[in-house]
Amino acid sequence: MVNVADGFPRSDVAGRLDCLRPLLVDAAIDALLITNITNIRYLSGFLGSAGSLWVTPGRAVLVTDGRYRHQASDQITKSGADIDLEITGGGHLAVVKKLASGFGRVGLEAESTSWADLERLAGAIEGELKPTSGMVEALREIKDDGEVARIAAAAAIADQALAAVEANFVAGAVESELAALLDHAMRTGGASDRAFETIVAAGPNSALPHARPGNRILVDGDLVVRDFGAVVDGYRSDMTRSMRVGGTGSGPSADLLAVVLEAQAAGLAVVADGVPLAEVDRACRAVLVDAGLEEAFSHGTGHGVGLDIHENPAVASTASGSLRVGQVITVEPGAYVVGLGGVRWEDTVLVTGNGHRPLTGSPKDL
Ligand code: ZN
Ligand code: ZN
Repeated sequence: MVNVADGFPRSDVAGRLDCLRPLLVDAAIDALLITNITNIRYLSGFLGSAGSLWVTPGRAVLVTDGRYRHQASDQITKSGADIDLEITGGGHLAVVKKLASGFGRVGLEAESTSWADLERLAGAIEGELKPTSGMVEALREIKDDGEVARIAAAAAIADQALAAVEANFVAGAVESELAALLDHAMRTGGASDRAFETIVAAGPNSALPHARPGNRILVDGDLVVRDFGAVVDGYRSDMTRSMRVGGTGSGPSADLLAVVLEAQAAGLAVVADGVPLAEVDRACRAVLVDAGLEEAFSHGTGHGVGLDIHENPAVASTASGSLRVGQVITVEPGAYVVGLGGVRWEDTVLVTGNGHRPLTGSPKDL
């Protein structure tokens, strides 16, 4: 079992508000009302499921309800962030109205504000409401040592879980039961949860990039995609290992396993600070195009991983940015061939100055 109780480097939660405040100026807003609960956690350490965080150049206030009075106070204190706490009695809106009084341009998080939220806030706030996008998410892209350590611990738990249950991936086993074995092994290994619904997709189901485990019984020769991850202290890991039931052998399935692995290696080989995101995608895709599998690689090459399973940056042909030190991304090319099956290889890696550091580490022997 991975020891997740202690030993993590401390994350500078308190310093994150100072990184956010200059972005308010860039966005031409006087205050920002944060309603994405993961962003609130990132900035304040608050782990509750309801609340909002009011941020101005001079002050930050967490607004939540009475259920979280003690928890919110404890967690903010523990994070060290300079955040006041307002517990709503009757209405969240009344508190926000009071806080917003006198502020001219109030930013809202467009991605997490519903139409109904907007109408309510427009009725309560006197100032001008402005949509913002990705402000906190941009900060979250760059992980500090504490965050990387948690993702690495989640990845290690997933590695150990696969090693513990690998022998069960034989003819006669059932997809959904294998997924449950992986989930159980991650929980007993120290994970607080699985990072997303574990995928075990066998035979024809493996040709569906996002299959859900069902009652398919594995038979010899099936390709099987296993895509799963663990959660440690809120941080997630993401890994895919593919296999052929009964052994890799030779033939079309073995070739598919090998060529997608070659594509992943080509993508990983270019991962480094400053490399265009699209270049990672191109490196993977070139191998599969050469193998005549252009159409079979039907998704992007990867994504950021952290408090959410899918974060910025997107690693795709259409991405415009470049990799930066401290980003944690996946590299996960796949090929899905109806009638044969599907293969995907995925690792979660930390971008470093001269390359990358793999965080997931399960073997990829064929
Ligand atoms: Zn995955
Ligand atoms: Zn992924």
